[in-house]
Amino acid sequence: MARATSKTLRDPSLPTAKGRCVCGAVHIEIGVPARWAWHDHAAASRLAQGAAYATYLGCYKSRFWVTKGEAAITRFADEKAGTVRGFCAKCGTPIFYDRLRAHTMINLPRALFTTRTGREPRYHMNLDQAVDWLYAGEPLAPLKGYPGVMWERPRRKKKTAGIDDFL
Ligand SMILES: [Zn+2]
Repeated sequence: MARATSKTLRDPSLPTAKGRCVCGAVHIEIGVPARWAWHDHAAASRLAQGAAYATYLGCYKSRFWVTKGEAAITRFADEKAGTVRGFCAKCGTPIFYDRLRAHTMINLPRALFTTRTGREPRYHMNLDQAVDWLYAGEPLAPLKGYPGVMWERPRRKKKTAGIDDFL
């Protein structure tokens, strides 16, 4: 199976952004700026990430390095879809999403990086697959008795038209 990571040596003068998995077994690094960034609402990404949607960075493979824990990355190849997903075998964190048709690019979860990556995710893909429980900035209020928990109050039902409205 093809390696997802670059074999090229990193130019030490290249600005980079560093990322890692939950347990710290895998550390990654990319050249900054990333090529682009977007929110993916596809069902496959939702399942793979265990989240409402995935926010990805698209990077050139030549500017992506696993700096620690290459051996800890397990791969899932979906041959029908032509994709390979890499994740930390120890903690399960998704590390990369490789669409094999895109030979030079690789997709990385934006959330792995704690610093700026040179691209803001301003694009949305596959919105026709978005879930209806997605939080979209609705007003929130503190939940009484649970410090730190906010909740979305149920919307007031609009008064439905009754027969009296037409008389
Ligand atoms: Zn891990």
